[in-house]
This record gives sequence, structure tokens and C-alpha cells, in this order.
Amino acid sequence: MNDKVFRIAIVGAGPAGYFTAKAFQSSQIVGKKFAIDMIERLPTPWGLVRSGVAPDHPKIKTVSKVFENIAKESGFRLFANVELGKDVSLQNLRENYDAVVLATGCSSGRKLDIPGESLPNCISAAEFVPWYNGHPDFTNVNVNLDSDTAVVIGAGNVAIDIARMLLLSPGALEPTDVAEHAFNTFKLSKIKKVILCGRRGPEHAAFTAPELRDLTKIRDIQIFIDSDQINLAILRVDQLGEVDRDLKNNLATMRLIAEQIKNSLERKLEIKFLATPIEIKGDNKVEEVVFAVNEIKNSRVVETDKIFSIRAGLVITAIGYDAVGYPGVKIENGRIVNIAGHVEHNIYVTGWAKRGPIGVIGTNKSDSVAVVDLIINNLKEPKNALSIESLLKSSHQIIDQFGWEKINASEVISGEISGKPRIKEVDWKRLISLGTNK
Ligand code: NAP
Repeated sequence: MNDKVFRIAIVGAGPAGYFTAKAFQSSQIVGKKFAIDMIERLPTPWGLVRSGVAPDHPKIKTVSKVFENIAKESGFRLFANVELGKDVSLQNLRENYDAVVLATGCSSGRKLDIPGESLPNCISAAEFVPWYNGHPDFTNVNVNLDSDTAVVIGAGNVAIDIARMLLLSPGALEPTDVAEHAFNTFKLSKIKKVILCGRRGPEHAAFTAPELRDLTKIRDIQIFIDSDQINLAILRVDQLGEVDRDLKNNLATMRLIAEQIKNSLERKLEIKFLATPIEIKGDNKVEEVVFAVNEIKNSRVVETDKIFSIRAGLVITAIGYDAVGYPGVKIENGRIVNIAGHVEHNIYVTGWAKRGPIGVIGTNKSDSVAVVDLIINNLKEPKNALSIESLLKSSHQIIDQFGWEKINASEVISGEISGKPRIKEVDWKRLISLGTNK
């Protein structure tokens, strides 16, 4: 019996895309196989593992080995430097592939929508993070580290990453794969104090205990948290009955940090709660952030009439992301409109684009398995239609797996000489030339 081979297009070569490919590979049975074409806008794959995970967290990046093993499986092909909506339409993919899975993530930074947000030196995590990670679209972000204080808005793990990156010493950053342009800026940084502000209480913080504990391991950063705020939060949570283990852990870690004996270290991180930013002030650039003080009444966070302000030369907002749309999909509440991963016809969605910007890299595994089960249930007969090569202009410069491996090898070799995991190539043209010169 001949195998039925279903052709699947996965758009987006980040963790959700790779775990989707893996779920298809693992679901192959005699008689039913999957040929996977992974389509990626950038000349490089790995999504947030390359352009999101902080450079000083190399362990998290080792998941890229899993991605490379998935890419080695027969039937898998990479088509990088191919943009959905520009080089190929969703309609074209839909008509020609048996299923199309959108794994395009959430890349647009949410806005505070307060006066002063557009002042120079107020930037979003959606620009700052890809800037220090060498994303080729963000090399020119104007990052000014000339003042001694920065404010980070948001109490999630991205805010923690950003606070840490702003305070790490050049010596700690040097052996990482931080982009060279960013390293040169960090080396000259005058920032000595970062104030991270959450609008709700410590019990509502979105960051997690392991990330907090990581901070405490950095020897030259002193962390300040108001112990009264933590003790009150613990009381409030205890009154509600059974406490979730992760929350208990998070609060216990915060209390430990709050009670730590303080040395007079040069670099300081302060974590503040119950502070909503209401205005960013400054003449031509950020100079001050004004906050409303909140309190918790009957388990609800309410604004008081008290305000306070922080003098700072840099504000980075880390308040979540929204999915970016393209012709053929609807975005609602920051994600692609879907029901359990089904968009319409043979179009599906997975990862952050499906569920919004929540969850760590591993969350995408179970998510992708569920979507792939749904797709396989809906597949009947293969279409045997055109594949991506025939849908693109003949002159289009595709970076395939072999091309990417050349880019990867070149970066790793350049890094070895300088004792780094890699030196990222950040220029579009050079990336394309490295990846296409056979
Ligand atoms: P997040 O976890 O959703 O945190 C966003 C933070 O922004 C929350 O504290 C939220 O407060 C706050 N916020 C939202 N709108 C605001 C506003 N208008 N004003 C002030 N504050 C506002 O998002 P994230 O930090 O971007 O992280 C995204 C996902 O990636 C998370 O699942 C995270 O765990 C994961 N991640 C993991 C790691 C790691 O494991 N090392 C690293 C980075 C990211 P409210 O709660 O009050 O809305």
C-alpha cells in the first residue's frame, strides 16, 4: 500500500512551529505520512529562542538542539526569508497545502496609552529585547543608557529579564551571545538603578520564583523589595484559604529577598508593587514617571488619590504582546481568532498566536500536540497540489536548512574565537548572502 502523504505548511520557525512539526512527525503511521514545509519571514529560524531568550540564559537556548533534530527528520524542509502576506499569500497556502498551521507568535508590544509614552527613551520590550538579541529588524533601536536610573513597567518574566540585562556587568555579558551593537552600548551604560513596577500586589506578580532566584545569584546586584508589602500580601493570600504552590513559592522568594541584609553594592534593583504609571514627563526625552498608588480592598486592586514619581532617563514597558495580523486572519484580544486552534477551512494556529503571550517554551509542546491531533482528525485525502517553491517568484532567495546551517556554523565559529557561544550576524543582506551562497 502506498503511503498517503499530507503536505503541511507551518508558518513561523519558533518553538511553537518546531513542536508542531515534531507532533506531526510523531503521529506518522504506516499509510499516513506528513511532508512539512516550515516557512519563516526571517533569514534565520528558532524564533524567540534566538531573539527573545536573554543572552545570559544559555541553558534555555539548548532547546535549539531539539529543533535541529526535528529539522533532520525526512520530510522536513525549511523555507526561511519567505514572508507570509508578501512573498506568498495565506490563500495560496490554504489552496495548495493539506493544512496550514500559523505559529507566528505575538511580536507587537502592548501600549500603556498614557501621556508621554512616545517620548524618546521610552521603549517597549518588543523593541529592546530583539535589539539586544540581534534581531535584524531591530539593530537601529535608539537605546540610550546615559542616565543612572531606569524604570521597567510590568511585573512579568520579561520585565525581570530586562531589569537583569540593564544591570549585568560587562564582564557577565561578555561570554554570552548578546548582539555586538548591544554589548558595546551596555559596556558604556551609566545605569546603576532599575526600578521595576507592578500595578497590582506581590500576590499578583506574573514573574516566577526561579527567575527571581536567578537574580539573587548575581553577586553585584542588590535587590530591594518592601517587606511590609510582601507580608501584607502573604496575609491576604492566607485569608483566602488554600494557597497555590507556585504562588507560595513566589511570595516566599520575595520575602527572602526583602529580608536579605543589604550590602552597599553599586547596582540596585528595586521591585515596587501597587503602582500604576499615569504619565511620563520630560522635555524632549524621558525625565520622570508619575505613578498612582493602588491599594487592595476586598481582594480588588483600586487606585487611591495618592501619586508619586520617579526621576529616570529610561523607561522600558514590558506589559505583554499582541499577535500581528496579515491578510486573511482576524486578530481579537491580541491573538488570532480561533476555536481550540482551528481558524477556518484548513487553517490552524498554535503557540502564542493561538492562546496569547502566555507560557514558557515548553508550554508549546502540549499545545501543538492538541492542535495536530485536531488537524489529523480533519485530514481526509491529500491534495497533491503545488508546493511553496512553485508559489514563490523564481528569483526569490530562499534560505533552506542547508543555508541556515551555513549561517549557524559561521556564527558559532566566529564565537569560538572570542569565547562566546556565537556572534550573531544581524544584517539582513549578509544573512541572506551567507545562507544562499551554495
Ligand atoms: P506577563 O507575564 O503577562 O506579564 C505582563 C506584566 O505586565 C504583568 O505584570 C501585567 O500586570 C503588566 N501589565 C499589563 N498591562 C499593564 C499596564 N497597562 N500597566 C502596567 N502594567 C501592565 O508577560 P511577559 O512578561 O511579557 O511574559 C510573557 C510570557 O513569557 C509569560 O508567560 C512569561 O512567563 C514568559 N517568559 C518566561 C521567561 C522565563 O521562563 N525565563 C522569560 C521571559 C518570558 P497585570 O497582571 O496586572 O495585568
